[in-house]
Amino acid sequence: MPISCNRCTDATFTVISYGLFFNGFMVHTPKQVFGPTINRLADVMAHLDRYAFNGVTRLAKDARVSASSVSRLINGKMNPSFAMVVRLTIALEKQLGRRIDPRELIAETGNFLTKFVCDLVGCNGCLPESAVDEFGQVKGSFVGISPGTWVTSKYPRGYQSANSNS
Ligand SMILES: [Zn+2]
Repeated sequence: MPISCNRCTDATFTVISYGLFFNGFMVHTPKQVFGPTINRLADVMAHLDRYAFNGVTRLAKDARVSASSVSRLINGKMNPSFAMVVRLTIALEKQLGRRIDPRELIAETGNFLTKFVCDLVGCNGCLPESAVDEFGQVKGSFVGISPGTWVTSKYPRGYQSANSNS
C-alpha cells in the first residue's frame, strides 16, 4: 500500500512539475519590453533645503554613492541598481522626515504611486523653478498647471499624458 501511495504522489508531482515548467516557459517566452524609466529625484531634491544647493554632491555623499552616478541617473542616462535606489531613498527619507517608497522616485513610464511630487514630500503646493520665467510668468508645458499639481518638472502632466495620442 505505501508503495502505491508513493507512486500516486510521484505521478502527481510529475504533473505539477510539467505544469510549472510550462508556466515558466509561457512567462519567459515573450520579450520583456520595459517602458522608459522616469525619475523625479531632482524634483524631490528641489523641495529639500539640504539639496537646493550642490544637491547632487550632497545627496551622493549622504547615500554613499558616486556623484557621477547620481548625475547620470537624474539625467536619465543610466538604469540604477536596486541597491543604489534604496540608498538614495534612505538619504531622501532622512531629509523628508517620512518614509517613501522607491517607486515614488523612479517608475516605469513615470507611473509613480503618488501622482504629484508636492503631495509626496508634504509641500503645500509649488511650481518648480523651471516653470516660471524671469518675470514670474508660467511658461512652456506648465501653462495651465496649478501649483502642487505636477508630476515631474520634465513631464508636468505625467510621462504617459505627454506621450499619448494628443
Ligand atoms: Zn512643492
